Amino acid sequence: MAEINQKDMTDFRCIRCHACCRQEGYVRLRPGEADRIARFLEMDLLSFTRKYTRLTRDRQTLSLVEKENKECIFLGNDGCRIHEVKPGQCRDFPLKWKFSEFEKICGWAKNRSRADYNPSMDRPSSSSK
Ligand code: SF4
Ligand code: SF4
Repeated sequence: MAEINQKDMTDFRCIRCHACCRQEGYVRLRPGEADRIARFLEMDLLSFTRKYTRLTRDRQTLSLVEKENKECIFLGNDGCRIHEVKPGQCRDFPLKWKFSEFEKICGWAKNRSRADYNPSMDRPSSSSK
């Protein structure tokens, strides 16, 4: 697979394949995000925190919990169930991530790396995931 450099990313269009939501790993919550998601779900903050978050190993932040199959707890059949208030970490993927191997995860990047890539085949989206 050919590597994608920063210049190639100018035509990034999230195709909403949700591969990034199936990736094992922390979805860290930034200040205020737990509160915002709890309100969106019409839950009180304590109940939300107990049910949907865990403390990261470095004990610095809360992360969303995962399902048994390791995909994000909020990934539903139609995509992210908290799309309107999803964490900044999700919104920032992959454009603001310093993660050189994102192309092994991201569906758009996999398409982009194909020799027969055609940008018009991408389903446009204003945000990732
Ligand atoms: S919060 Fe939504 S966008 Fe973020 S990983 Fe979970 S399902 Fe995906
Ligand atoms: S950011 Fe990439 S992996 Fe995530 S939904 Fe969009 S195209 Fe798929």
